[in-house]
Amino acid sequence: MTINRRMCLAGGLAACALPVLRVLPVGATGGFVIEVAPGVFVHRGQHAVFNPQNKGDISNPGFVVGEEAVAVIDTGGSPQVGRELRAAVTSITDKPIRYVINTHMHPDHVFGNVAFEADGTVFVGHHKLARGLTERSERYLAINKDLLGPEAFEGTKIIPPTLTVEGTRTLDLGGRTLELSAQPTAHTDNDLTVADSKTGTVFMGDLLFVEHIPTIDGSIKGWMALLDRIGQAPPVRVVPGHGPHALAWADAATPLQRYLRTVATDVRAMIAQGKTLAEATESAGSSEKGAWLLFEEYHKRNVSAAFAELEWE
Ligand SMILES: [Zn+2]
Repeated sequence: MTINRRMCLAGGLAACALPVLRVLPVGATGGFVIEVAPGVFVHRGQHAVFNPQNKGDISNPGFVVGEEAVAVIDTGGSPQVGRELRAAVTSITDKPIRYVINTHMHPDHVFGNVAFEADGTVFVGHHKLARGLTERSERYLAINKDLLGPEAFEGTKIIPPTLTVEGTRTLDLGGRTLELSAQPTAHTDNDLTVADSKTGTVFMGDLLFVEHIPTIDGSIKGWMALLDRIGQAPPVRVVPGHGPHALAWADAATPLQRYLRTVATDVRAMIAQGKTLAEATESAGSSEKGAWLLFEEYHKRNVSAAFAELEWE
């Protein structure tokens, strides 16, 4: 029997994800993370926009434990999520948290950074991450203070990277290394992927959305090209920025590639017909509506972004 995404959604998604290595004993981390490969732990956020109830817990941060040190990859959408993630690390290992790596600038991936600041941790990101954060910090803080509410927002601050990646960079955790790759503009202009040498697991950040509609804040053309390129030699296991803890490449990438292609094709056709942006947002990509959660929240914005990019081809 073939498992399609509608069945995945209906079946609680267990059928779509790769088998989990082990679910940690209750109490070890309070169930906050699961181990998706030896020494690779992932927390699964909710499919939602920021609100006081979810406290910004809407993306998938994780961490990798080496023989000498730990690297945290993304920190969730509030200081509170960051503290929970940090507690998960310290309940599993007493190795120092040497690195916090941010996969890109979006608040649901960086607002938990502050929870790791006192550890003497090195913050790592794409060489364009600091600029992206600086340009948007005022807006990010103002908008999300309202969305999260005062309690979850308390203590939030923007922490830019002190170690940047242009091209690739290798971090040694002892017994395993992480290969960081600064990607060309796709989901944003500061997407960074993190590959674990020991297990072949790749943290893709928001270059992969599963179940949750993708959001385009970079380049639809760049994103399609990047997914095509990675798909030529796909990782054995990927951690998406939103969706199940870990999946096989094809399960994560295929629906996303279909969505991006559909939007691009529809928008190009409407531009060729002389249609306006307003007309495009009403119908382009509407065949994808049943396939994604949060479609109403983000789809029109995606069409707008695609239109702005593709009308100059
Ligand atoms: Zn994002």
